Amino acid sequence: MTHCPENMNSKIPGLYIHIPFCLSKCHYCDFYSLTSISAVPDFLDALFKEMEMYCNRFNPFDTVYIGGGTPSLLSPQQLESVLVNVRENFNLISNPEITPEITIETNPADLNRSFLESMCENGINRINIGVQSFDEKALNFLGRRHSVKQAISGVEASRAAGFHNIGLDLIYGVPAQDIGSWLDTLKQAVVFSPEHISCYQLTLETKTPLGMRYQAGEFSLPGEELQYEFFMKTSELLEDADYNHYEVSNFARGKEHTSRHNQKYWDHSPFLGLGPSAHSFHCNQRWWNHHSLDQYLSAINAGNLPIEETETLTMEQLRLEALYLGLRTKKGIFLQDLKNQYHYDLFTEKKEMLDKLQEEGLLSIQNGYLYPTQTGLAVADSLSLI
Ligand code: SF4
Repeated sequence: MTHCPENMNSKIPGLYIHIPFCLSKCHYCDFYSLTSISAVPDFLDALFKEMEMYCNRFNPFDTVYIGGGTPSLLSPQQLESVLVNVRENFNLISNPEITPEITIETNPADLNRSFLESMCENGINRINIGVQSFDEKALNFLGRRHSVKQAISGVEASRAAGFHNIGLDLIYGVPAQDIGSWLDTLKQAVVFSPEHISCYQLTLETKTPLGMRYQAGEFSLPGEELQYEFFMKTSELLEDADYNHYEVSNFARGKEHTSRHNQKYWDHSPFLGLGPSAHSFHCNQRWWNHHSLDQYLSAINAGNLPIEETETLTMEQLRLEALYLGLRTKKGIFLQDLKNQYHYDLFTEKKEMLDKLQEEGLLSIQNGYLYPTQTGLAVADSLSLI
């Protein structure tokens, strides 16, 4: 049964589109993507059919996020057709107060001026560039297919083409990278004044090439103390450069540049995910598509939604998620929302734990919000145990 916790229905949904192609696999990546682009036309045909199947089944979206994979592998014409089909099948909110946020994830190696200009012409107003590092050694270790030179020229070309909302993705904790070389990458990033910076700690899944090398003992990863130092120094450097550290891994120059789309994942807003392996969420339902492109294409070509599985979340699961995700944001959780939406009074249920975490300097409560301190943000995963 679909039961919608209070307020969830009033939240504006977002649209995610997964483009499952990459020219080569990065050594740390366990996302689903194919390294041959020969199936792109078949995939796009199926994607447009999937859009038709969901046509008008969601309220108007105020965000569209084209992710992957590597969406910048599509030609300008293919990308244009994606956006034309989005607009034909769905309503995008557009009023004087809200312009839809339309984001594309890109690889620096693909960013030439004419491609970037065509993205702007198609209404894409936010570009996320997978720079990962401005250190050639780190890029090689990670198995990225771009160079530092391409990263620099890609960021510069994006600005020159007219993007006013640029996000850079960076990775820290790469073996053999000391704090000094990581801070050099951050300083180089700041030189471009991107509106948004995401800093992810390198994590290794067992079946990836780097995961296997790690298990074979070829290198070690930073221990807890060093990870903490990376986290704190990152925050300090970027806050000093006027970036607001608004979520564990995310920094924005001003509230208007926080990622509106990612916020939807953190506050239980509905979102529709299209394409292989894409996840969707609405009320208390989460569902996800087949991972393999073949299964995805077969389902759609047989006239079915390509859903692999649907999960119905209990009120308790939703509440735990809300706590886990909320405490990864600097704003934290509005306690009254927790009561209204999930029928849970954290003060009554976990008073001792809350007192202890406040005494330890990990959590604070102010104006009805429970939020992590800077130290709390560094250990956000363990805070979710409350
Ligand atoms: S570009 Fe992104 S999705 Fe593609 S292999 Fe690299 S990390 Fe994975």
